[in-house]
Amino acid sequence: MKTEQQPLPRVGITRCSQVGDYVASIQKAGGKPIVLDYDADPHRTIHDIDGLVLTGGADVDPSRYGESRHPATSVDDARDTFEFEIAERALARNLPVLAICRGMQLLNVAAGGDLVQDIPSQLQTPLDHTVDSSPAVVAHKVRIERASLLARIVKNPAQLETCDVNSRHHQSVRTVAPGFSVSATSPDGVIEGIENRDASFCVGVQWHPENFHRTGEFDSLFESFVDACRQR
Ligand code: MN
Repeated sequence: MKTEQQPLPRVGITRCSQVGDYVASIQKAGGKPIVLDYDADPHRTIHDIDGLVLTGGADVDPSRYGESRHPATSVDDARDTFEFEIAERALARNLPVLAICRGMQLLNVAAGGDLVQDIPSQLQTPLDHTVDSSPAVVAHKVRIERASLLARIVKNPAQLETCDVNSRHHQSVRTVAPGFSVSATSPDGVIEGIENRDASFCVGVQWHPENFHRTGEFDSLFESFVDACRQR
């Protein structure tokens, strides 16, 4: 005899060039992925999802945080317009948000923070944050803040508070948005994780956990997010 099955939590994933790994990660964690195109109506879309994944891609337009564009910054207006609208609605409704790479940067700007526009030219760092030889190659370590939600989710006892991550970004969070705190930092001080601990689930990571769905290093991150979506 089978009990009645609960519908799977519906997870909106903003369209990006490598959306397949995000879809696979959400499916593996027990969610129903819904890929959101930039011409979707944000008013309607927000009612059709139980949580939002903000994905990787081009840079956020610096005019969003009152700066002119650095020569290395490249933007996508249609994408910014849709993603800011859907992100602001998700934040206002306390909908679970998992924000990855560009997604974390967009989340920080949407919530009132700003960004380093180009790490190589603006920060003195010996670390290479743009290692794109292979999606899941480890680029550097991050130190996870002991008191963070992220630490409770992804802490690997074998690595104590540090964790190996991939890295394909030339921008990073500079001023953390009000209400948010830093949850992860690379050895050179670049902010690699932010979260709002007062929210239902609002976590940003600068690396790409979705590239590890075959090997499972960050399964618990997607599972915790989908669990939060299920509570809606
Ligand atoms: Mn990095």
